Amino acid sequence: MNSESFDLKNKGYLDINVPENTDVVKEIDRLKREKNAIILAHYYQESGIQDIADYLGDSLGLSQKASRTDADIIVFAGVHFMAETAKILSPQKKVVLPDLNAGCSLAESAPADLFAEFRKKHPDHVVISYVNTSAEIKALSDVCCTSSNAVKIVESFPKDQNIIFAPDKNLGNYINSKTGREMLLWDGACHVHEQFSLEKILEIKENRPGSKVIAHPECEKPVIIASDFVGSTSHLLNFVKEDANSEYIVATEWGILHEMRRQVPEKHFIPAPPKDSTCACSGCSYMKLNTLNKLYIALKYEKPEISISNDLIEKARKPIEKMLEISKKQ
Ligand code: 13P
Ligand code: SF4
Repeated sequence: MNSESFDLKNKGYLDINVPENTDVVKEIDRLKREKNAIILAHYYQESGIQDIADYLGDSLGLSQKASRTDADIIVFAGVHFMAETAKILSPQKKVVLPDLNAGCSLAESAPADLFAEFRKKHPDHVVISYVNTSAEIKALSDVCCTSSNAVKIVESFPKDQNIIFAPDKNLGNYINSKTGREMLLWDGACHVHEQFSLEKILEIKENRPGSKVIAHPECEKPVIIASDFVGSTSHLLNFVKEDANSEYIVATEWGILHEMRRQVPEKHFIPAPPKDSTCACSGCSYMKLNTLNKLYIALKYEKPEISISNDLIEKARKPIEKMLEISKKQ
């Protein structure tokens, strides 16, 4: 086995040294033009990656962008399910992910074989799956959603339609409370959003009574109830731009604070603390596996590449396209 295939198989990225004097940002820019590549990045990426992205967004925006781009190569600075979604929507393009180990605890909480059995037990239910799933789960779904459009997707079904919602029980509970439905929920959760401590958030609020709490719907119910606003990453960003308040306690992955501070530098943002103060659990360890150097190497060598069988692409594309179609409607 040569060192390249060893790295890709065992490390999940090409372990190639970047010479010290390399201006990585400049080189990425040059390679991007030379190769007609585009860099799509999620708000949870490290700040250096956010700064060089051609498009920075939430998971809905990223999938919309991936479906429309005329670039030949998509460098996906996010996690595996996001890059997979880009490949499914643009199968003729090369999609590279700087580190293949950039997974998602939520996506992993729904193994395809167990989910297929679960679905079989409820043949009268339609399946709505959050995009934070593997391509195999998408292929078992009727429609996908993101946290930006979840309520709209659920409401596109008649009130009496039985629905399975997977894999995030916290997002599912939140949608149930917003829509008055009783969707059957898969028992999955995100290890980052489950870590926020209501007690510690309330302690901060006591010292800073003017601050507002804003949270991602993947947080647990007590945090959601105590929040002044709940929304996807892009909805949280829009909220802090438009709201009149000047201070926010932010209960989502701390990467988003970079863009909040860039867009509204006059406001003050406090990352919500995790339950266990000895760990950095409000950062997504998967998202942070991508680094500028790994991104540069991935663009240069066009590896590691996302590859999915044509059959799986066909099956997984339908629920994603259905989601994009419903999202467009007023
Ligand atoms: P958004 O859809 O809000 O970007 O969320 C993605 C995600 O992974 C949240 O943990
Ligand atoms: Fe997955 Fe949670 Fe990381 Fe989002 S923050 S990518 S849901 S593990």
